[in-house]
Amino acid sequence: MHMSKPVIMAVDDDPVVLSSLERDLRQKYGGDYRIVKAKSGAAALEVLHKLERGGEPVALFLVDLRMPEMTGVQFFEEAVLIFPEARKVLLTTYPDTQTAINAINTISIDYHLMKPWHPLEEHFYPVLDSLLDEWRINVWLPYEGIRVVGAMGSSASHEVKNFLACTSIPYQWMDIERDEEARRLLELTSMSEADTPVLFFPDGSRLVQPTQQQLAEKVGLSTRAEYTFYDVIIVGGGPAGLSAAVYASADGLKVLLIERQMPGGQAGKSPKIENLLGFPTGISGRELTRRAVAQARRFGTEILTAQAVTGIRSEGETKIVTLDDGSQVSSKIILIATGAWFTLLDLPGIEKWSGAGVYYGAAHTEAANYKNQDLVVIGGANAAAQAMLLLSKYARKVTVLIRGSDPTWSKYLDETIRTNEKIELMLNTDLVAVQGDGKIQTVTLKNNLSGESTSLPADGVFVFIGEEPQSDFVADLVMRTESGHILTGLDMVKDGQRPPGWPLNRDPLLLETSVPGIFAAGDVRNGTKHGVAAAIGDGNAAVTLFWQYLSTL
Ligand SMILES: Cc1cc2nc3c(=O)[nH]c(=O)nc-3n(C[C@H](O)[C@H](O)[C@H](O)COP(=O)(O)OP(=O)(O)OC[C@H]3O[C@@H](n4cnc5c(N)ncnc54)[C@H](O)[C@@H]3O)c2cc1C
Repeated sequence: MHMSKPVIMAVDDDPVVLSSLERDLRQKYGGDYRIVKAKSGAAALEVLHKLERGGEPVALFLVDLRMPEMTGVQFFEEAVLIFPEARKVLLTTYPDTQTAINAINTISIDYHLMKPWHPLEEHFYPVLDSLLDEWRINVWLPYEGIRVVGAMGSSASHEVKNFLACTSIPYQWMDIERDEEARRLLELTSMSEADTPVLFFPDGSRLVQPTQQQLAEKVGLSTRAEYTFYDVIIVGGGPAGLSAAVYASADGLKVLLIERQMPGGQAGKSPKIENLLGFPTGISGRELTRRAVAQARRFGTEILTAQAVTGIRSEGETKIVTLDDGSQVSSKIILIATGAWFTLLDLPGIEKWSGAGVYYGAAHTEAANYKNQDLVVIGGANAAAQAMLLLSKYARKVTVLIRGSDPTWSKYLDETIRTNEKIELMLNTDLVAVQGDGKIQTVTLKNNLSGESTSLPADGVFVFIGEEPQSDFVADLVMRTESGHILTGLDMVKDGQRPPGWPLNRDPLLLETSVPGIFAAGDVRNGTKHGVAAAIGDGNAAVTLFWQYLSTL
């Protein structure tokens, strides 16, 4: 299958600036991208329609803010309807800074680049490199790589897509119901829908209905530890675990990070984290994860994917971890950074739709598969808010069900949501049933004040109704709250009494659990402020405490 090069489009009414932009873009990106220029917003939109008709992808726009007739902001308002995934860079001058910052909120630009953009290696290429990397991992291009043949209504297919998407491994999704080529591929290999999902690899090999471990091994990710003993074992590869991995391995500790799925955690599901210091236009959870994983590996952290920790034992100063394949690995220190996971809907028969039309936090993986369809989002907090904004780029309509009388999402998301014409908010409303034949077709809703029920057409339901700490595997080992959050530090010291069974003649350290040498960080820990920055901070603080602990051995 041949793919034309993705396009980088430069738009500026000043011919000198436009030529210079074109030259600088061509110099670095001319090999992999087609550089297209236009001298007005209107001319650029005309080109975009042609590209869309020809099936040519656009990766990035670099557009001048101040252009006569159509400003850069007005151009972006139209362009996102044609190429929602393309990254948007606004070219500005110093006095335009406030307008550019407003554009972050109104049209979600990805970066505002101040003119002049030289030296290129300092101001221009690093920004574009990172935006293009981000675009590549969020877009599915027809290409000669891994092809996944499956069905939209199949949870096994969803799991495979989710795994590949979250590990930033490019793949092409081929829906057997919509894609003739998908059916042909199955026929050629004497398989049928019952065998799906099937993965076709460029080397001619195939994986039929693979487990996560088979998938991880096939794409070159480790599922088995290289050594039997480490300084630190980190359980969980969300922001807390990755942060601790980066700082501990940078400090020279021998670190193993074990993740039951793929690194990223809940943050990896965020289409855009906008409240992280240093990222004024936001960063997607996948991009943050990609960078953190690369950083941790660079400092020497070993990462196991698709391996859950099922139990931890403490034998004096040695901690022993059991993995779900039955293997064991030991260390001096353990950090539990297992975060939280989505609360599941509690409706009769709902399980059969899980991953097959009802998705927990997976807006990122599935959004592009629901073009022009009707979607329902349940939840009124930040995670739901981000999901509905992403889904609205593709869907015909997004109906949002909020149990209470007001959403609780952050102020910076509110205006964008309320002015989005595709999003309809339904307050005091619960989902009571999902109907369909093979695929979801309608949902039944109930107003929890009036008791009135209604039905809506719906092709997919995205659920964000809360989360539960993932700590059951250490229920018999460490002290937890009733809700399952792990207690640490002085939280466990009551009336001067250290936790029951505490063997040492010192208080537990700040993030230390009721077992010396076992620490907890991030959303799984009691008393933490949930969020990416807090988790990263916890991970970092934990490393300082590791050294304190090691100095006592
Ligand atoms: C869609 C969405 C959007 C969000 N947006 C924002 C935002 O914009 N800003 C913000 O500040 N916060 C945001 N959050 C919240 C933020 O992502 C979390 O607070 C943060 O990820 C918590 O980090 P953590 O490392 O503690 O846990 P998690 O991110 O939950 O990671 C825990 C990891 O541990 C793994 N794990 C669990 N049990 C085991 C086991 N037994 N063995 C091995 N591995 C295990 C899990 O698979 C997971 O990968 C968002 C959350 C969601 C869901």
